[in-house]
Amino acid sequence: MKNIDILIIGAGISGAVLAERYASFGKKVLIIEKRDHIAGNCYDYMDDNGILVSKYGAHLFHTNEEIVWKYVQQFSDWYPWEHKVVARVDDKNVPIPVNITTVNTLFGENITSEEEMSAWLETNRKPFEKPANGEEAVLNRVGKVLYEKMFKHYTKKQWDKFPAELDASVLERIPVRSNYDDRYFSDKYQALPKGGYTQLFNSILANNNIEILLNTDYFDVMDEYAGYGKLFYTGPVDRFFDFKHSMEEKLEYRSINFVSETLDQQYFQENSVVNYPGMEVDFTRIIEYKHFGNQQSEKTTVVKEFTVDGGEPYYPVPNPRNQKIYDKYKEEADKLTDVYFVGRLANYKYFNMDQAFKNALDLFASLEETAPENYKA
Ligand code: UDP
Repeated sequence: MKNIDILIIGAGISGAVLAERYASFGKKVLIIEKRDHIAGNCYDYMDDNGILVSKYGAHLFHTNEEIVWKYVQQFSDWYPWEHKVVARVDDKNVPIPVNITTVNTLFGENITSEEEMSAWLETNRKPFEKPANGEEAVLNRVGKVLYEKMFKHYTKKQWDKFPAELDASVLERIPVRSNYDDRYFSDKYQALPKGGYTQLFNSILANNNIEILLNTDYFDVMDEYAGYGKLFYTGPVDRFFDFKHSMEEKLEYRSINFVSETLDQQYFQENSVVNYPGMEVDFTRIIEYKHFGNQQSEKTTVVKEFTVDGGEPYYPVPNPRNQKIYDKYKEEADKLTDVYFVGRLANYKYFNMDQAFKNALDLFASLEETAPENYKA
């Protein structure tokens, strides 16, 4: 049995941040990672056409958290990148989030001011004081017609559930705008790491106090590593407890099937991401990686995303049923000493990247109050 100060399961955002924090604090850290690479789902690499692509879907960093922004800048240069998404609706490309252009293009309107757009939304929306699910959330914001065209079927494809079967928060991730702003996010800081995310993680983890064991499933070797000071687990929470509360009802996750294609042409589509919210195709969106950072290549790489049930869990499925099951695991998790559950899968929460950074930083700060350079708000 090996003695380690800090044992971390998973080399994604949460694992990497905690490793860096503890290593800087003089602790010996071991990360055990099942995959053959670091960076979790942020992992990217140069493909054969010299295009930086992400293995597990596009990752757009955005945050309003000064602490997170300050933290990530230590490990990479970043270039400003305001993400935009186009949706293919009724054979037209329209901005999502819904804005003035979306409504004008789809309904032949001639809205030119915020007042007119607000009035249009007011006429079309179906108000709910406190939307109880994703359907009410969208109806409350944009009304039935846009709900049908842009949200209902995309959501069914993404989650295999209709919006009414999901928490309102899932659909409320996307704002609605009464102006021409066509950015996907409104955050103060929106940027991508120069050189990509894998390099960012390499830099976060570049500390002699950190050892990384790739290609290793923790559950295969856990007996060898039972002598830790603290354990940070970032994998699926139910796996940690051997699915003990999942006999009748399993905690649900969604995964993505990425179907990649190289095309011998300059560009395939006008934008990095084009969403397909209709029923005519099975995929949810097409990503053309070349657009990110305006990369140059004779060819282009496009990736279709098909969301599926089986496979690596990427998304928790936020709804009351899953929350109930998760709560049982959480109760177990809270009883353990020196074992901490961190990140999207271990907390069963649909965190954005910056929230994952923030939670890991907060956890370290709360556990190690005396550490220097604690990233506290
Ligand atoms: N969504 C939708 N239509 C779209 C884009 C998103 O209905 O064109 C809904 C869908 O339910 C999705 C959720 O909004 O799961 C959140 O979208 P987001 O882009 O944040 O999802 P992610 O990029 O994390 O997959």
